[in-house]
Amino acid sequence: MFEKVLIANRGEIALRIHRACREMGIKTVAVHSTADADAMHVKLADEAVCIGPAAAKDSYLNKAAIISAAVMTGADAIHPGYGFLSENAEFAEMVEAHGITFIGPSPEMIRLLGDKISAKKMALDAGLPVVPGSDGAVQSVAEAQEIAEKIGYPVIIKATAGGGGKGMKIARSADEMQEAFELAQKEALNAFGNDSVYLEKYLENPRHIEVQVLADNYGHVVHLGERDCSLQRNHQKVLEETPSPALNPEQRQQIGEIVVNAMKKIGYTNVGTVEFLYENGQFYFLEMNTRVQVEHPITEAVTGIDIVRDQIRISSGAALGYEQADIRFNGYAMDCRINAEDPNTFIPRAGTIGQWHTPGGLDVRVDSEMYAGYTVPPNYDSLIAKLIVHGRTRNGVLMRLRRSLEEFVIEGIPTTIPLHQRIISDPEFIDGQYNIHWLEKFLRK
Ligand code: ADP
Repeated sequence: MFEKVLIANRGEIALRIHRACREMGIKTVAVHSTADADAMHVKLADEAVCIGPAAAKDSYLNKAAIISAAVMTGADAIHPGYGFLSENAEFAEMVEAHGITFIGPSPEMIRLLGDKISAKKMALDAGLPVVPGSDGAVQSVAEAQEIAEKIGYPVIIKATAGGGGKGMKIARSADEMQEAFELAQKEALNAFGNDSVYLEKYLENPRHIEVQVLADNYGHVVHLGERDCSLQRNHQKVLEETPSPALNPEQRQQIGEIVVNAMKKIGYTNVGTVEFLYENGQFYFLEMNTRVQVEHPITEAVTGIDIVRDQIRISSGAALGYEQADIRFNGYAMDCRINAEDPNTFIPRAGTIGQWHTPGGLDVRVDSEMYAGYTVPPNYDSLIAKLIVHGRTRNGVLMRLRRSLEEFVIEGIPTTIPLHQRIISDPEFIDGQYNIHWLEKFLRK
Protein backbone atom coordinates (compact mmCIF):
# COMPACT_ATOMS: atom_id res chain seq x y z
CA MET A 1 0.00 0.00 0.00
CA PHE A 2 1.07 3.58 -0.59
CA GLU A 3 2.62 5.52 2.27
CA LYS A 4 1.98 8.99 0.98
CA VAL A 5 -0.48 10.27 -1.61
CA LEU A 6 -0.36 13.70 -3.20
CA ILE A 7 -3.81 15.13 -3.91
CA ALA A 8 -3.64 17.07 -7.18
CA ASN A 9 -6.95 18.85 -6.80
CA ARG A 10 -8.92 21.31 -4.69
CA GLY A 11 -12.38 21.73 -3.18
CA GLU A 12 -14.65 19.01 -1.89
CA ILE A 13 -12.97 16.22 -3.87
CA ALA A 14 -9.56 17.05 -2.37
CA LEU A 15 -11.08 16.66 1.10
CA ARG A 16 -12.87 13.48 0.01
CA ILE A 17 -9.54 11.96 -1.09
CA HIS A 18 -7.79 13.13 2.08
CA ARG A 19 -10.48 11.41 4.15
CA ALA A 20 -10.09 8.11 2.29
CA CYS A 21 -6.31 8.22 2.70
CA ARG A 22 -6.55 9.04 6.40
CA GLU A 23 -8.83 6.09 7.03
CA MET A 24 -6.34 3.86 5.23
CA GLY A 25 -3.40 5.13 7.28
CA ILE A 26 -1.87 6.88 4.25
CA LYS A 27 -0.17 10.27 4.66
CA THR A 28 -1.40 13.09 2.42
CA VAL A 29 0.21 15.99 0.62
CA ALA A 30 -2.05 18.88 -0.39
CA VAL A 31 -0.97 21.08 -3.28
CA HIS A 32 -2.71 24.40 -3.56
CA SER A 33 -2.75 27.72 -5.33
CA THR A 34 -2.20 30.97 -3.44
CA ALA A 35 -6.00 31.43 -3.48
CA ASP A 36 -6.55 28.15 -1.63
CA ALA A 37 -4.06 28.49 1.23
CA ASP A 38 -6.97 28.45 3.73
CA ALA A 39 -8.76 25.43 2.31
CA MET A 40 -9.83 22.76 4.77
CA HIS A 41 -7.88 19.90 3.17
CA VAL A 42 -4.75 22.05 3.13
CA LYS A 43 -5.08 22.43 6.91
CA LEU A 44 -5.79 18.73 7.41
CA ALA A 45 -3.12 17.27 5.13
CA ASP A 46 0.18 16.07 6.60
CA GLU A 47 2.07 18.37 4.27
CA ALA A 48 1.06 21.23 1.99
CA VAL A 49 2.89 22.75 -0.96
CA CYS A 50 1.92 25.94 -2.75
CA ILE A 51 2.22 25.24 -6.47
CA GLY A 52 1.41 28.61 -7.98
CA PRO A 53 -0.90 31.59 -8.32
CA ALA A 54 -4.69 31.47 -8.41
CA ALA A 55 -5.15 30.88 -12.14
CA ALA A 56 -5.66 27.14 -12.63
CA LYS A 57 -3.34 27.04 -15.62
CA ASP A 58 -0.49 28.19 -13.35
CA SER A 59 -1.32 25.88 -10.42
CA TYR A 60 -3.76 22.95 -10.67
CA LEU A 61 -2.91 22.47 -14.35
CA ASN A 62 0.83 23.04 -13.85
CA LYS A 63 2.13 19.52 -14.39
CA ALA A 64 5.78 20.27 -13.60
CA ALA A 65 4.94 22.07 -10.34
CA ILE A 66 2.74 19.20 -9.16
CA ILE A 67 5.28 16.52 -10.01
CA SER A 68 8.05 18.55 -8.36
CA ALA A 69 5.92 18.74 -5.22
CA ALA A 70 5.45 14.96 -5.31
CA VAL A 71 9.16 14.31 -5.74
CA MET A 72 10.07 16.85 -3.07
CA THR A 73 7.71 15.38 -0.49
CA GLY A 74 8.42 11.76 -1.43
CA ALA A 75 4.82 10.92 -2.37
CA ASP A 76 4.48 7.50 -3.95
CA ALA A 77 1.18 8.20 -5.71
CA ILE A 78 -0.84 11.11 -7.10
CA HIS A 79 -4.63 11.21 -6.96
CA PRO A 80 -5.94 13.58 -9.63
CA GLY A 81 -9.58 13.79 -8.44
CA TYR A 82 -11.92 14.99 -11.22
CA GLY A 83 -11.48 17.84 -13.69
CA PHE A 84 -8.05 19.53 -13.94
CA LEU A 85 -5.46 16.86 -14.91
CA SER A 86 -7.56 13.80 -14.10
CA GLU A 87 -8.06 12.82 -17.72
CA ASN A 88 -4.77 14.12 -19.07
CA ALA A 89 -2.81 11.18 -20.50
CA GLU A 90 0.37 13.21 -20.81
CA PHE A 91 0.26 14.05 -17.11
CA ALA A 92 -0.33 10.40 -16.20
CA GLU A 93 2.70 9.47 -18.32
CA MET A 94 4.87 12.13 -16.67
CA VAL A 95 3.82 10.90 -13.23
CA GLU A 96 4.70 7.29 -14.08
CA ALA A 97 8.02 8.39 -15.64
CA HIS A 98 8.98 9.76 -12.23
CA GLY A 99 8.35 6.42 -10.58
CA ILE A 100 5.13 7.66 -9.00
CA THR A 101 1.79 5.86 -9.35
CA PHE A 102 -1.00 7.75 -11.11
CA ILE A 103 -4.24 6.79 -9.37
CA GLY A 104 -6.32 6.03 -12.43
CA PRO A 105 -6.21 3.84 -15.51
CA SER A 106 -3.15 3.61 -17.77
CA PRO A 107 -2.20 6.65 -19.85
CA GLU A 108 -3.04 4.67 -23.03
CA MET A 109 -6.55 3.95 -21.75
CA ILE A 110 -7.07 7.60 -20.78
CA ARG A 111 -5.94 8.70 -24.23
CA LEU A 112 -8.14 6.23 -26.11
CA LEU A 113 -11.24 6.93 -24.05
CA GLY A 114 -10.61 10.67 -23.78
CA ASP A 115 -10.93 11.12 -27.49
CA LYS A 116 -14.65 10.79 -28.12
CA ILE A 117 -14.21 9.30 -31.58
CA SER A 118 -11.79 6.55 -30.55
CA ALA A 119 -13.90 5.95 -27.44
CA LYS A 120 -16.99 5.43 -29.57
CA LYS A 121 -15.12 3.00 -31.80
CA MET A 122 -13.89 1.08 -28.76
CA ALA A 123 -17.38 1.01 -27.30
CA LEU A 124 -18.83 -0.31 -30.56
CA ASP A 125 -16.14 -3.01 -30.82
CA ALA A 126 -16.74 -3.98 -27.20
CA GLY A 127 -20.45 -4.50 -27.81
CA LEU A 128 -21.89 -1.30 -26.33
CA PRO A 129 -24.84 0.31 -28.13
CA VAL A 130 -23.83 3.73 -29.51
CA VAL A 131 -25.67 6.80 -30.88
CA PRO A 132 -25.78 6.71 -34.70
CA GLY A 133 -23.47 9.32 -36.19
CA SER A 134 -20.39 10.05 -38.26
CA ASP A 135 -17.65 7.44 -38.36
CA GLY A 136 -15.05 9.92 -37.25
CA ALA A 137 -14.26 13.63 -37.34
CA VAL A 138 -16.20 15.68 -39.87
CA GLN A 139 -14.15 18.16 -41.87
CA SER A 140 -16.63 20.44 -43.62
CA VAL A 141 -20.17 21.76 -43.56
CA ALA A 142 -20.90 19.90 -46.80
CA GLU A 143 -19.74 16.59 -45.33
CA ALA A 144 -21.78 17.24 -42.20
CA GLN A 145 -24.87 17.91 -44.30
CA GLU A 146 -24.34 14.71 -46.25
CA ILE A 147 -24.07 12.60 -43.08
CA ALA A 148 -27.01 14.37 -41.48
CA GLU A 149 -29.19 13.52 -44.50
CA LYS A 150 -28.33 9.86 -43.93
CA ILE A 151 -28.94 9.67 -40.18
CA GLY A 152 -31.77 12.19 -40.29
CA TYR A 153 -32.15 15.60 -38.60
CA PRO A 154 -31.91 16.81 -35.89
CA VAL A 155 -28.22 16.17 -35.34
CA ILE A 156 -25.78 17.36 -32.71
CA ILE A 157 -22.28 18.55 -33.57
CA LYS A 158 -19.84 17.71 -30.79
CA ALA A 159 -16.21 18.44 -30.03
CA THR A 160 -13.92 15.40 -30.30
CA ALA A 161 -12.04 16.62 -27.24
CA GLY A 162 -15.33 17.56 -25.50
CA GLY A 163 -16.07 17.86 -21.83
CA GLY A 164 -18.19 19.94 -19.50
CA GLY A 165 -20.92 20.28 -22.10
CA LYS A 166 -18.82 22.65 -24.24
CA GLY A 167 -18.62 22.69 -28.02
CA MET A 168 -22.04 21.13 -28.67
CA LYS A 169 -24.49 22.58 -31.19
CA ILE A 170 -27.77 21.26 -32.58
CA ALA A 171 -28.80 21.51 -36.24
CA ARG A 172 -32.44 20.78 -37.07
CA SER A 173 -32.12 21.20 -40.83
CA ALA A 174 -29.52 21.57 -43.60
CA ASP A 175 -30.04 25.34 -43.37
CA GLU A 176 -29.03 25.40 -39.73
CA MET A 177 -25.93 23.29 -40.33
CA GLN A 178 -23.51 25.98 -41.48
CA GLU A 179 -23.94 28.18 -38.43
CA ALA A 180 -24.11 25.31 -35.93
CA PHE A 181 -21.06 23.60 -37.41
CA GLU A 182 -18.92 26.72 -37.35
CA LEU A 183 -20.03 27.64 -33.84
CA ALA A 184 -19.22 24.17 -32.52
CA GLN A 185 -15.77 24.31 -34.14
CA LYS A 186 -15.11 27.73 -32.68
CA GLU A 187 -16.25 26.73 -29.20
CA ALA A 188 -14.18 23.53 -29.38
CA LEU A 189 -11.10 25.48 -30.37
CA ASN A 190 -11.59 27.95 -27.53
CA ALA A 191 -12.29 25.34 -24.88
CA PHE A 192 -9.93 22.52 -25.91
CA GLY A 193 -7.42 24.07 -28.33
CA ASN A 194 -8.66 21.62 -30.96
CA ASP A 195 -11.46 22.35 -33.43
CA SER A 196 -12.15 18.74 -34.42
CA VAL A 197 -15.88 17.92 -34.31
CA TYR A 198 -18.11 14.95 -35.11
CA LEU A 199 -21.78 14.32 -35.67
CA GLU A 200 -24.42 12.40 -33.77
CA LYS A 201 -28.12 11.86 -34.12
CA TYR A 202 -29.74 14.26 -31.64
CA LEU A 203 -32.02 12.33 -29.33
CA GLU A 204 -35.05 14.47 -28.49
CA ASN A 205 -36.06 13.34 -25.03
CA PRO A 206 -33.48 11.01 -23.51
CA ARG A 207 -32.45 10.48 -19.94
CA HIS A 208 -28.79 10.50 -18.98
CA ILE A 209 -28.00 7.23 -17.22
CA GLU A 210 -24.47 6.18 -16.30
CA VAL A 211 -22.99 2.99 -14.92
CA GLN A 212 -20.22 3.00 -12.29
CA VAL A 213 -17.50 0.39 -12.67
CA LEU A 214 -14.53 -0.78 -10.62
CA ALA A 215 -11.83 -2.97 -12.17
CA ASP A 216 -8.60 -4.27 -10.69
CA ASN A 217 -5.37 -5.21 -12.49
CA TYR A 218 -6.26 -8.92 -12.47
CA GLY A 219 -9.34 -8.96 -14.67
CA HIS A 220 -11.97 -8.57 -11.94
CA VAL A 221 -14.64 -6.10 -12.99
CA VAL A 222 -17.83 -5.15 -11.15
CA HIS A 223 -20.52 -2.55 -11.73
CA LEU A 224 -22.09 -0.59 -8.88
CA GLY A 225 -25.37 0.10 -10.60
CA GLU A 226 -26.46 3.25 -12.37
CA ARG A 227 -27.00 6.92 -11.64
CA ASP A 228 -29.65 9.01 -13.30
CA CYS A 229 -28.13 12.41 -14.11
CA SER A 230 -30.88 13.75 -16.33
CA LEU A 231 -31.44 16.89 -14.29
CA GLN A 232 -29.13 19.23 -16.18
CA ARG A 233 -28.74 22.85 -17.06
CA ASN A 234 -26.49 23.74 -20.00
CA HIS A 235 -25.54 20.04 -20.22
CA GLN A 236 -24.28 20.21 -16.63
CA LYS A 237 -25.61 17.99 -13.89
CA VAL A 238 -27.55 19.60 -11.05
CA LEU A 239 -29.10 16.75 -9.05
CA GLU A 240 -28.44 13.02 -9.42
CA GLU A 241 -30.21 9.95 -8.12
CA THR A 242 -29.86 6.21 -7.92
CA PRO A 243 -31.51 3.93 -8.86
CA SER A 244 -32.91 5.57 -11.97
CA PRO A 245 -36.72 5.89 -11.82
CA ALA A 246 -36.71 4.75 -15.47
CA LEU A 247 -35.19 1.29 -15.00
CA ASN A 248 -36.51 -1.91 -13.49
CA PRO A 249 -34.19 -4.46 -11.81
CA GLU A 250 -33.92 -6.60 -14.96
CA GLN A 251 -32.91 -3.63 -17.11
CA ARG A 252 -30.41 -2.60 -14.44
CA GLN A 253 -28.84 -6.03 -14.37
CA GLN A 254 -28.79 -6.19 -18.15
CA ILE A 255 -27.00 -2.88 -18.74
CA GLY A 256 -24.64 -3.63 -15.85
CA GLU A 257 -23.64 -6.93 -17.42
CA ILE A 258 -23.19 -5.38 -20.86
CA VAL A 259 -20.90 -2.73 -19.34
CA VAL A 260 -18.87 -5.24 -17.30
CA ASN A 261 -18.32 -7.41 -20.38
CA ALA A 262 -17.27 -4.38 -22.42
CA MET A 263 -14.78 -3.33 -19.72
CA LYS A 264 -13.31 -6.84 -19.70
CA LYS A 265 -12.99 -6.75 -23.47
CA ILE A 266 -11.11 -3.47 -23.55
CA GLY A 267 -9.00 -4.41 -20.52
CA TYR A 268 -10.11 -1.42 -18.47
CA THR A 269 -8.69 -0.98 -14.97
CA ASN A 270 -9.42 1.38 -12.04
CA VAL A 271 -12.67 3.33 -11.52
CA GLY A 272 -14.72 4.55 -14.41
CA THR A 273 -18.16 5.61 -15.49
CA VAL A 274 -19.82 4.65 -18.72
CA GLU A 275 -22.33 7.32 -19.71
CA PHE A 276 -25.40 6.59 -21.81
CA LEU A 277 -28.39 8.39 -23.16
CA TYR A 278 -31.53 6.34 -22.64
CA GLU A 279 -34.61 6.76 -24.79
CA ASN A 280 -37.57 4.44 -25.52
CA GLY A 281 -35.97 1.54 -23.70
CA GLN A 282 -32.68 1.86 -25.61
CA PHE A 283 -29.23 2.75 -24.27
CA TYR A 284 -26.80 4.77 -26.39
CA PHE A 285 -23.15 5.07 -25.32
CA LEU A 286 -22.09 8.70 -24.89
CA GLU A 287 -18.63 8.59 -23.38
CA MET A 288 -16.55 7.06 -20.65
CA ASN A 289 -15.09 9.02 -17.76
CA THR A 290 -11.80 7.50 -16.62
CA ARG A 291 -11.85 9.03 -13.14
CA VAL A 292 -13.92 9.38 -10.01
CA GLN A 293 -17.02 11.51 -10.61
CA VAL A 294 -18.65 14.31 -8.66
CA GLU A 295 -21.78 12.22 -8.08
CA HIS A 296 -20.02 9.04 -6.88
CA PRO A 297 -21.34 9.32 -3.26
CA ILE A 298 -24.92 8.31 -4.15
CA THR A 299 -23.53 5.00 -5.36
CA GLU A 300 -21.54 4.70 -2.14
CA ALA A 301 -24.75 5.34 -0.20
CA VAL A 302 -26.68 2.47 -1.78
CA THR A 303 -23.82 -0.05 -2.06
CA GLY A 304 -21.87 0.77 1.11
CA ILE A 305 -18.70 0.63 -1.01
CA ASP A 306 -16.09 3.34 -0.51
CA ILE A 307 -15.25 4.02 -4.16
CA VAL A 308 -12.24 6.26 -3.51
CA ARG A 309 -10.78 3.80 -1.04
CA ASP A 310 -11.13 0.92 -3.48
CA GLN A 311 -9.71 3.06 -6.27
CA ILE A 312 -6.60 3.67 -4.16
CA ARG A 313 -6.38 -0.03 -3.24
CA ILE A 314 -6.66 -1.13 -6.86
CA SER A 315 -4.01 1.41 -7.92
CA SER A 316 -1.60 0.08 -5.33
CA GLY A 317 -1.93 -3.36 -6.93
CA ALA A 318 -4.46 -4.95 -4.57
CA ALA A 319 -7.18 -7.23 -5.90
CA LEU A 320 -10.75 -5.97 -5.77
CA GLY A 321 -11.59 -8.61 -3.16
CA TYR A 322 -15.30 -8.99 -3.95
CA GLU A 323 -17.47 -10.08 -6.83
CA GLN A 324 -20.63 -8.85 -8.47
CA ALA A 325 -22.71 -11.27 -6.41
CA ASP A 326 -21.37 -9.69 -3.20
CA ILE A 327 -22.74 -6.26 -4.10
CA ARG A 328 -26.12 -5.40 -2.57
CA PHE A 329 -28.15 -2.42 -3.64
CA ASN A 330 -29.81 -0.95 -0.65
CA GLY A 331 -32.46 1.75 -1.00
CA TYR A 332 -32.33 5.07 -2.80
CA ALA A 333 -30.03 8.09 -2.80
CA MET A 334 -29.96 11.61 -4.22
CA ASP A 335 -27.26 14.23 -4.47
CA CYS A 336 -27.88 17.98 -4.68
CA ARG A 337 -24.99 20.00 -6.09
CA ILE A 338 -24.94 23.20 -4.11
CA ASN A 339 -23.27 25.95 -6.08
CA ALA A 340 -22.26 29.44 -4.99
CA GLU A 341 -24.46 31.02 -7.62
CA ASP A 342 -27.40 33.27 -7.88
CA PRO A 343 -30.27 30.71 -7.90
CA ASN A 344 -32.12 32.65 -10.62
CA THR A 345 -29.38 33.83 -12.96
CA PHE A 346 -26.81 31.12 -12.13
CA ILE A 347 -24.04 33.69 -12.12
CA PRO A 348 -21.23 32.38 -9.88
CA ARG A 349 -20.67 34.45 -6.75
CA ALA A 350 -17.49 34.48 -4.72
CA GLY A 351 -17.42 35.90 -1.20
CA THR A 352 -16.95 35.23 2.47
CA ILE A 353 -19.18 32.76 4.25
CA GLY A 354 -20.77 34.05 7.45
CA GLN A 355 -22.75 31.37 9.26
CA TRP A 356 -22.21 27.82 8.02
CA HIS A 357 -24.32 25.02 9.39
CA THR A 358 -24.70 21.67 7.68
CA PRO A 359 -27.62 19.27 8.14
CA GLY A 360 -27.04 15.93 9.80
CA GLY A 361 -28.91 12.93 11.07
CA LEU A 362 -29.36 9.42 9.74
CA ASP A 363 -28.26 8.89 6.14
CA VAL A 364 -27.35 12.54 5.51
CA ARG A 365 -23.88 13.32 4.18
CA VAL A 366 -22.37 16.65 3.26
CA ASP A 367 -19.17 16.72 1.23
CA SER A 368 -17.76 20.23 1.40
CA GLU A 369 -14.60 22.16 2.22
CA MET A 370 -16.49 25.17 3.50
CA TYR A 371 -16.54 26.58 7.01
CA ALA A 372 -17.69 29.82 8.66
CA GLY A 373 -15.35 32.68 7.75
CA TYR A 374 -13.98 30.94 4.66
CA THR A 375 -13.71 33.07 1.52
CA VAL A 376 -14.81 31.34 -1.67
CA PRO A 377 -12.30 32.39 -4.32
CA PRO A 378 -13.68 33.59 -7.68
CA ASN A 379 -11.21 31.56 -9.73
CA TYR A 380 -12.74 28.11 -9.82
CA ASP A 381 -15.87 26.02 -10.25
CA SER A 382 -18.84 27.25 -8.23
CA LEU A 383 -19.59 23.88 -6.55
CA ILE A 384 -19.26 24.44 -2.79
CA ALA A 385 -21.07 21.45 -1.32
CA LYS A 386 -22.80 18.21 -2.14
CA LEU A 387 -25.74 17.11 -0.05
CA ILE A 388 -26.17 13.34 -0.30
CA VAL A 389 -29.21 11.71 1.22
CA HIS A 390 -29.96 8.01 1.47
CA GLY A 391 -33.17 6.24 2.45
CA ARG A 392 -35.11 3.00 2.20
CA THR A 393 -37.67 4.43 -0.21
CA ARG A 394 -37.51 7.19 -2.82
CA ASN A 395 -40.24 9.05 -1.01
CA GLY A 396 -38.25 8.77 2.23
CA VAL A 397 -35.26 10.29 0.46
CA LEU A 398 -37.38 13.20 -0.77
CA MET A 399 -38.70 13.90 2.73
CA ARG A 400 -35.21 13.68 4.21
CA LEU A 401 -33.81 15.90 1.50
CA ARG A 402 -36.51 18.50 2.10
CA ARG A 403 -35.74 18.50 5.82
CA SER A 404 -31.96 18.66 5.19
CA LEU A 405 -32.16 21.55 2.72
CA GLU A 406 -34.25 23.41 5.27
CA GLU A 407 -31.56 22.90 7.95
CA PHE A 408 -28.69 24.03 5.74
CA VAL A 409 -27.48 27.51 6.68
CA ILE A 410 -25.07 29.29 4.37
CA GLU A 411 -24.78 33.01 4.94
CA GLY A 412 -22.84 35.58 2.96
CA ILE A 413 -23.14 34.09 -0.53
CA PRO A 414 -26.15 33.08 -2.61
CA THR A 415 -26.50 29.36 -3.33
CA THR A 416 -28.63 27.03 -5.40
CA ILE A 417 -30.39 25.61 -2.30
CA PRO A 418 -33.68 27.39 -3.19
CA LEU A 419 -33.53 25.82 -6.66
CA HIS A 420 -33.18 22.32 -5.18
CA GLN A 421 -36.09 23.02 -2.86
CA ARG A 422 -38.25 23.92 -5.84
CA ILE A 423 -37.16 20.90 -7.87
CA ILE A 424 -37.87 18.33 -5.19
CA SER A 425 -41.34 19.80 -4.57
CA ASP A 426 -42.40 19.50 -8.19
CA PRO A 427 -44.99 16.74 -8.86
CA GLU A 428 -43.27 15.58 -12.06
CA PHE A 429 -39.92 15.27 -10.33
CA ILE A 430 -41.55 13.52 -7.40
CA ASP A 431 -43.01 11.10 -9.95
CA GLY A 432 -39.59 10.52 -11.51
CA GLN A 433 -40.94 11.78 -14.84
CA TYR A 434 -38.08 13.83 -16.22
CA ASN A 435 -35.50 13.80 -19.00
CA ILE A 436 -32.43 15.88 -19.88
CA HIS A 437 -34.61 18.85 -20.96
CA TRP A 438 -36.93 18.84 -17.98
CA LEU A 439 -34.96 21.26 -15.81
CA GLU A 440 -34.57 23.90 -18.50
CA LYS A 441 -38.32 23.81 -19.18
CA PHE A 442 -38.98 23.95 -15.44
CA LEU A 443 -36.77 27.05 -15.15
CA ARG A 444 -38.72 28.82 -17.89
CA LYS A 445 -42.03 28.25 -16.10
P1 ADP B 1 -19.48 16.30 -22.17
O1 ADP B 1 -18.29 15.40 -22.24
O2 ADP B 1 -19.19 17.68 -22.65
O3 ADP B 1 -20.17 16.26 -20.84
P2 ADP B 1 -21.38 14.39 -23.30
O4 ADP B 1 -21.12 13.70 -24.59
O5 ADP B 1 -21.20 13.61 -22.06
O6 ADP B 1 -20.51 15.73 -23.26
O7 ADP B 1 -22.84 15.00 -23.31
C1 ADP B 1 -23.30 15.83 -22.28
C2 ADP B 1 -24.79 16.06 -22.39
O8 ADP B 1 -25.13 16.60 -23.67
C3 ADP B 1 -25.62 14.78 -22.28
O9 ADP B 1 -25.87 14.42 -20.96
C4 ADP B 1 -26.88 15.23 -23.02
O10 ADP B 1 -27.64 16.08 -22.19
C5 ADP B 1 -26.35 16.09 -24.15
N1 ADP B 1 -26.11 15.27 -25.38
C6 ADP B 1 -24.93 14.79 -25.81
N2 ADP B 1 -25.09 14.06 -26.95
C7 ADP B 1 -26.39 14.08 -27.25
C8 ADP B 1 -27.21 13.48 -28.31
N3 ADP B 1 -26.67 12.74 -29.28
N4 ADP B 1 -28.54 13.71 -28.27
C9 ADP B 1 -29.10 14.45 -27.30
N5 ADP B 1 -28.41 15.04 -26.29
C10 ADP B 1 -27.07 14.85 -26.25
